[in-house]
Amino acid sequence: MVFRFFKKEDKEQQTHSTSLTHIFQPEGSAQTDAKLVQIIAHLDECKSNDFNYLVEKLVQRLGFDTQIIDGIHDSGIDIIGFQQQKKVLAVQCKAWNPKRNTNPLDKKEVLAFKGKTMSDGYENSLFVTTHYFTKPALDEASDNFFLIDRRILHDLLATYFPKEFSEAFYYETLKELKACPTCQKGKLIRLYSKNKRTYYTLCERCQGYHPCS
Ligand SMILES: [Zn+2]
Repeated sequence: MVFRFFKKEDKEQQTHSTSLTHIFQPEGSAQTDAKLVQIIAHLDECKSNDFNYLVEKLVQRLGFDTQIIDGIHDSGIDIIGFQQQKKVLAVQCKAWNPKRNTNPLDKKEVLAFKGKTMSDGYENSLFVTTHYFTKPALDEASDNFFLIDRRILHDLLATYFPKEFSEAFYYETLKELKACPTCQKGKLIRLYSKNKRTYYTLCERCQGYHPCS
């Protein structure tokens, strides 16, 4: 059985009840954004438009209306964040795999984006990457020019998409196992039947049984 952490707002009930149902509830997997789970689970393989989708959802969670402009204007700005219909945030996204790409984002790239956002009059800017920034690049960060590297990005994903992050991490722990042919989403756990003296598999998601192949 999989549980999801459930935040209970009603403190009074917590105080007077010894039941743990306010903490543990059966998982509601339908409540997760399946596309986000896939992107988070395969962050280093995702295409730039998928990474833009992920960052756009994050920017929305941070309280902005958004518009993706990648591909329309080659300005280094991928996403615009709005508040009260006013452009207040410029976002650049770079999905680079640090296991393959040996160049962290350097000062030159950061300054190019900074120059663009300043000349366009943005109050705040966000440069988000799955890679890292060099030290001289990090020195360009300020309280309205934010550099989000791989480490901070994962903290933000865990904070703002806890269900999707947990789901992606959960399946990462089972990634060596075969996928369930019935539900396509679950993983097959290998079990042994003492009566039949044979191995079989059980899907941890749909609870379906399958013979071992
Ligand atoms: Zn299944």
